[in-house]
Amino acid sequence: MSVRFFNSLTRAREPFVPLEEGRARMYACGPTVYNFAHIGNFRTFVFVDVLRRHLKWRGYKLLHVMNLTDVDDKIIRDARAAGLPLREFTEKYVRHFWEDADALGIERPEVAPRATDHIPEMVELIGRLLRCGCAYHSDGSTYFRIASFPRYGALSGDKLAGNVAGASERVEADEYEKDDARDFVLWKRTQPGEPTWDSTLGPGRPGWHIECSAMAMKYLGESFDIHCGGVDLMFPHHENEIAQSEGATGRPFAKYWLHAEHLLVNGRKMSKREGNYYTLRDLLERGYSARAVRYVLAAVPYRKPLNFTLEGVEAAERRLKRLNETVRRLREAQTVAGTTADDVTTITQLRAAFGAALDDDLNTAEALAAVAQLETTVNVALTRGALAESFKTAALAAFDDAQATLGILDPPEEALLDAAIEALIAARLEARKAKDFARADAIRAQLAGQGIVLEDGKDGTRWRRA
Ligand SMILES: [Zn+2]
Repeated sequence: MSVRFFNSLTRAREPFVPLEEGRARMYACGPTVYNFAHIGNFRTFVFVDVLRRHLKWRGYKLLHVMNLTDVDDKIIRDARAAGLPLREFTEKYVRHFWEDADALGIERPEVAPRATDHIPEMVELIGRLLRCGCAYHSDGSTYFRIASFPRYGALSGDKLAGNVAGASERVEADEYEKDDARDFVLWKRTQPGEPTWDSTLGPGRPGWHIECSAMAMKYLGESFDIHCGGVDLMFPHHENEIAQSEGATGRPFAKYWLHAEHLLVNGRKMSKREGNYYTLRDLLERGYSARAVRYVLAAVPYRKPLNFTLEGVEAAERRLKRLNETVRRLREAQTVAGTTADDVTTITQLRAAFGAALDDDLNTAEALAAVAQLETTVNVALTRGALAESFKTAALAAFDDAQATLGILDPPEEALLDAAIEALIAARLEARKAKDFARADAIRAQLAGQGIVLEDGKDGTRWRRA
């Protein structure tokens, strides 16, 4: 059975057939680095992580590119408000993004290019669009001519019908709504107080959409396999990426488009005003482990809306504690010679079911159901006593599959030694005594990221593995 994905472009579930046998080239839209990423953002990044892990686990040689958007309207607005140069402002949030991603067990993509390091590639691509009549200058800016690309709207489909305006109407902003589908900006003329680059297009800066087209094609080629991102990026961002890229090359851009659905918190759209807005740090400060947050974000298949609740994270903490305890007992279990053929058959079947669930458009819910059955089977065997070596080997291999693709278990090689934990707790105590609460909080977050929960009491600080 092969890997299958729901392709947003064709609105059908299709077998994954890469352009080059055995290789998977994929692009994921990365963070806009003007703030801490919130858990809605991380729902998408965890989905992309499960996708990349599963492709590797299925034996594909993977090239995964994820950009960092470090220049756009919002970044410029907030960097100005902070009184910082663009690079200095974004640097901090790039660093925080990787810290959060690491804590969540998100593997680093093979290439993570920054937009401001690729201005010449963007200018070159816009030059191609000008030469083929897909773009035009106006008032010092350069726009994409939607009328030059008859397939415009193919990704968003019917939702866009009738909204594509005539060629003379333009939209300047990086983000806009479906009823504003007009010629969009590729290069923005220089404005007072904004970062600006000299180019053959005149002084200015890139629009947001061209960034991804230029970086994707630089590292993956003009045509590649998978493009993914959050469903909110489908229009206008991904629609514009297709138009710019295919307009310039005349070749198909990405073959498969995968979109992660929205995340809600307590059934409502996440918003700071509603008080249901969480970054990863907010959750770590409440004592939750990053691994439990990852579990919650990964457990709902990516094409279903995910309702995030703190009760859900607490349930995940309990679930993972039991699961890790089972794996630990299995690892430490004594074995005897001989076989228990029936049990090994069950394990083999569950392993196959697990892989088949992920092959099926990354059905993580079914994959986790297989893990739960595996856990039950192992616990029954452990209770019964002496394990056959063949059973133990098969069961550990099955848990290894779950770890390789879902990344939810405590990897034994990563487990912090108790002495190292005690040393960090002592350092945190020192920091608190010195009223350096930022450092104390950072240490707590660091430990939480590794599944260590601290409990401050009058007798000092106790810790436990989450
Ligand atoms: Zn993008």
